Amino acid sequence: MTNPSIDALVIGTGIIGAMTAHYLQQDGRTVTFVERGEVSRGASSGNAGILAFPEIIPIAAPGMMRKAPKWLIDPLGPLSLPPSYALNMVPWLWRLWRASARSNFERTVAVHASIMPLARAEWLNVIDRTGLGNMVSRTGTLDLYDSEASLFSASTDWERKRKAGFGFERIGRDEIEKLQPGLAPHIQHAIFSPDGLQVGDPYEFTKALVDNVISRGATLRAGDVKAIEPTASGARVILADGPALEAKTVVLAGGAWSKSVAASLGDFVPLETERGYNTTLPPGAFPLQRQLYFNDHGFVVTPLSTGIRIGGAVELGGLKLAPNYKRSEAMLKKAKMFLPELKTEGGRQWMGFRPSTADCIPVIGPSGRSPNIIHAFGHGHLGLTQSAATGRLVAEFAAGRKPSIDLTPFDIGRFR
Ligand SMILES: Cc1cc2nc3c(=O)[nH]c(=O)nc-3n(C[C@H](O)[C@H](O)[C@H](O)COP(=O)(O)OP(=O)(O)OC[C@H]3O[C@@H](n4cnc5c(N)ncnc54)[C@H](O)[C@@H]3O)c2cc1C
Repeated sequence: MTNPSIDALVIGTGIIGAMTAHYLQQDGRTVTFVERGEVSRGASSGNAGILAFPEIIPIAAPGMMRKAPKWLIDPLGPLSLPPSYALNMVPWLWRLWRASARSNFERTVAVHASIMPLARAEWLNVIDRTGLGNMVSRTGTLDLYDSEASLFSASTDWERKRKAGFGFERIGRDEIEKLQPGLAPHIQHAIFSPDGLQVGDPYEFTKALVDNVISRGATLRAGDVKAIEPTASGARVILADGPALEAKTVVLAGGAWSKSVAASLGDFVPLETERGYNTTLPPGAFPLQRQLYFNDHGFVVTPLSTGIRIGGAVELGGLKLAPNYKRSEAMLKKAKMFLPELKTEGGRQWMGFRPSTADCIPVIGPSGRSPNIIHAFGHGHLGLTQSAATGRLVAEFAAGRKPSIDLTPFDIGRFR
């Protein structure tokens, strides 16, 4: 039996791959990244930069099917299903619908409530260890509602967040005005969560973390992974061109593209992409104080070090359809209705692929074929938030230590 030439091979340089590599390195492992595109330019490059630790409520929630038609009716609304991809989505949507049943929903909330405290603690540890703390700020989050009735309809979810240990307060117009001047006068109802953290720029942070790991001895290799095979001493990674790579441990952190590589191992996962859109305006576009969630309209406005980002939306359009940037424009127009002084010129549009499982829980843990092959993907709307926790859990599993939280709900075998 030959000894693999690579110690720990991480597929993908998004935030999940970067965090996982960081934690493996903390354990003394020598990391090799394999990346087929530009480093850190996947979903992790253009997201809203919110460390959304209180977000324990999945999109698959009771009543989801009642809301969906209202949102689908508007072709540029917060949810869309392009007709050319609709049939492909049926199996995933069916599973999503099952996940929204009351008992499954409660279970998913509990799973997210179990990982979020770890997510927060580990983010703070990572920025402390790497010296990247200047790229994260604590500005708090303002959740805005159109009416008393819409805030009331969200009150059960807020109570769940309180029970999970996340603090917040309900505020009226005077306090709203103090926390964020310049909002349209019809906005009278909000919730303020003081602990909200914001990453200055998600691309810059992810790239800086990859660079940090490389500066501590990791290597980066260009390569398009087609398949993984277990071997007696670890795993073999098959590339589209070039020789196969032998490693002791392989971590699959390929975001929305992980499904076919997992399938090469016989691991089935109902993974689709929820495509999201945004526009990043120049920094002077609005004197934004903190993250603003427009809950009734499915978009957020976030203050980045590199500008003001306005985006969100979910388009169930797969990995190949061309982007429809009218969605970015629609959200920008809406934002102007709520922030009348917003300067909407000079923006940069972006579309990214959220990696979304049908039960709204990421896949973290071993392949069904071998404990030397570990999956770390499928974080949907919360990949940035849950990345440090994921890195820690993967490293614990790889080292044979007891994971900080129970990994059973994250196991890929649940989809069998
Ligand atoms: C509009 C939008 C807003 C969002 N806002 C937030 C937010 O505020 N907070 C939050 O927590 N989350 C947010 N998210 C979600 C978050 O961005 C994702 O969950 C997260 O970035 C996923 O990270 P990842 O590393 O798994 O995937 P990615 O960042 O996509 O990285 C995957 C990497 O793997 C590489 N790769 C894939 N397959 C292969 C292969 N076969 N061989 C070699 N390399 C491969 C890709 O090239 C890519 O570099 C948002 C997403 C979107 C779209």
